[in-house]
Amino acid sequence: MEIVTHDLIILGAGLAGLRAAIEAARVGQGKLDIAIIAKTQLVRPHSVCAEGGTGAVMRPEEGDSLELHAWDTVKGSDLLADQDAVELFVQTIPQEILQLEHWGIPWARRGDGRINQRPFGGHSFPRAVFAADKTGFFEVHTLYDTLQKYPDITKYEECMATSLLVEEGQYCGLTAIDLKSGEFLVFRSKALIIATGGACRIYGFTTYSHTVTGDGMAIAYRAGLPVKDMEFVQFHPTGLVPSGILNYRGGSRGRGISDQ
Ligand SMILES: Cc1cc2nc3c(=O)[nH]c(=O)nc-3n(C[C@H](O)[C@H](O)[C@H](O)COP(=O)(O)OP(=O)(O)OC[C@H]3O[C@@H](n4cnc5c(N)ncnc54)[C@H](O)[C@@H]3O)c2cc1C
Repeated sequence: MEIVTHDLIILGAGLAGLRAAIEAARVGQGKLDIAIIAKTQLVRPHSVCAEGGTGAVMRPEEGDSLELHAWDTVKGSDLLADQDAVELFVQTIPQEILQLEHWGIPWARRGDGRINQRPFGGHSFPRAVFAADKTGFFEVHTLYDTLQKYPDITKYEECMATSLLVEEGQYCGLTAIDLKSGEFLVFRSKALIIATGGACRIYGFTTYSHTVTGDGMAIAYRAGLPVKDMEFVQFHPTGLVPSGILNYRGGSRGRGISDQ
């Protein structure tokens, strides 16, 4: 059986995996042999379904602040969030919004030409940056387009990882099935980033895509890796039963938009 070798494997090509691949290629400056593997097509992770927007402090001069965004986030988690992660997130995300803009995302604009922002559930300031009602779709496509700039990233689509390989307590690779041919594959790498998304398809009724089945977490768990905060699942207040779509009228706080 052929064994494919790379320096770094990124498992998953949602917003998390695509962004990680670009950053690894940028930092690696052509010296890292990177692979990105997804069981879906690279432009069809669940992330394309995110609609409402991405929270970021873009207008401190109009009353928003990093402290307020951090407080809203911690409050929204009933004080259970990892506050170091929250702080890093709110500090980083305004720059990420501008970075996506420079990579070509068509953010919605205000009349004065600045990036538009709208209210979002849980936020005490209208700080959701959006691209019509297809924010995640445009974010994924912008990252996917940017990925094409890096020839050192090899892409494996419709390729589903099934197990991690561990030698003497050390990660060394993974097994996968090429879903197009049914072929069994073995990958080796020095490092792995797991970005396989959530597990919400464990529920009978959910707005998550049929691909969000938690198998990435399961293979990590089976290999002995600790998994963190598994109980943090978002139960959305505006999901419609039985269609499974999110309500866009009279959102959870009566602002006329969905929280997502
Ligand atoms: C209806 C809806 C609307 C939402 N709207 C918003 C919003 O407006 N704003 C917001 O911030 N968040 C929103 N969210 C949440 C947001 O969509 C997710 O948090 C985010 O997209 C997760 O990104 P990800 O990269 O972690 O995972 P995903 O996008 O799920 O990507 C996972 C990747 O891993 C791959 N993968 C999984 N298992 C394997 C395997 N075994 N082998 C190989 N590849 C594998 C998949 O193919 C995919 O490429 C929304 C969620 C839903 C359900």
